[in-house]
Amino acid sequence: GGHIGLACWPQDDSSSAGLIRKSMLAVRAAKWSKLPIVSYDANIDQYSESRLSLMGELLDAINNDELSLHYQPKIDLSSQTVVSMEALIRWHHPKHGLLSPDHFIDLAESTGIIQPLTQWVISTGISYCNTLRNQGHGLSIAVNVSVRNLLSETFADDVIATLKQHDFPAERLILEVIESAVIEDMNQTFLTLSMLKKYGIGLSLDDFGTGYSSLSYLKKLPFHELKIDRSFVTNMSHDKGDSVIVETTLTIAHQLGLRVVAEGIEDIATANVLKKLGCEVGQGYFWSKPLPELEFIDLLSKGKS
Ligand code: C2E
Ligand code: MG
Ligand code: MG
Repeated sequence: GGHIGLACWPQDDSSSAGLIRKSMLAVRAAKWSKLPIVSYDANIDQYSESRLSLMGELLDAINNDELSLHYQPKIDLSSQTVVSMEALIRWHHPKHGLLSPDHFIDLAESTGIIQPLTQWVISTGISYCNTLRNQGHGLSIAVNVSVRNLLSETFADDVIATLKQHDFPAERLILEVIESAVIEDMNQTFLTLSMLKKYGIGLSLDDFGTGYSSLSYLKKLPFHELKIDRSFVTNMSHDKGDSVIVETTLTIAHQLGLRVVAEGIEDIATANVLKKLGCEVGQGYFWSKPLPELEFIDLLSKGKS
């Protein structure tokens, strides 16, 4: 998990203080871009400055009501009904407009902000899900959590307290673990996940097949669901390599007793192939993009759940 930043004398700076500052900026750029080594250049200064100000603003965004959740349906492939929804965060930035999570989740992760942010998402998501449940839609809700969240010793207790506060059934909450970093502390991660599982909360391994996710996590950690990354799913109906990967993943997951969700389904051909292969749940633009609250209710009332 290490990152290296380089600044060179004399071309980048001739003073020792300047060299240290610029090498630190290069380290930060390496962390943000997830590269092992980055050399300083003038663009990094500018990039770094705008990222730093975004990081400062993110802290206030929660309190200023600038964050919102969009919801994307998860479809049971055999009955073609909406069984769940995934909460996906958006930031309505006063200057930059609507920002997708790719612009700021890594910033939240590299600071402590990911903790209050995730708590906000869980509490907002389950309160919306409660509203839908009261209207007769028996859905569950999936929320993305970062590996950083799992390293916090209070995370499991905080989630359980939020469930109690909203009187929300634990088995209707699914936490999708996204691995933007190697799991550094397997013991704490295991402890947190085990506490959540023991309480009845569902655990899903997101973006399987990319990044740092590995088969050994499936063996060691108490997941009940695996989400095949959309980079393998979207083109699988005409890409032999992708379809072999998806099929093999389904076999492994099922033999381990896991439920499988395929994300990034964009056409009916892919939905049909996955159903035939025994994939339980699908998600993707074929049914719907992530929608704001009111539009999501519209979608449900049009009879798709
Ligand atoms: P994810 O959890 O894998 O979410 C699925 C992403 O794929 C979403 O992007 C969704 O809009 C997109 N997607 C869904 N169906 C399709 C499709 O058919 N085709 C294509 N091309 N894309 C599709 P989004 O909303 O931009 O989120 C990106 C990532 O940001 C998420 O990936 C998740 O890792 C992270 N994220 C989102 N919300 C949160 C959050 O509240 N907390 C944390 N920690 N991470 C979040
Ligand atoms: Mg997810
Ligand atoms: Mg995913």
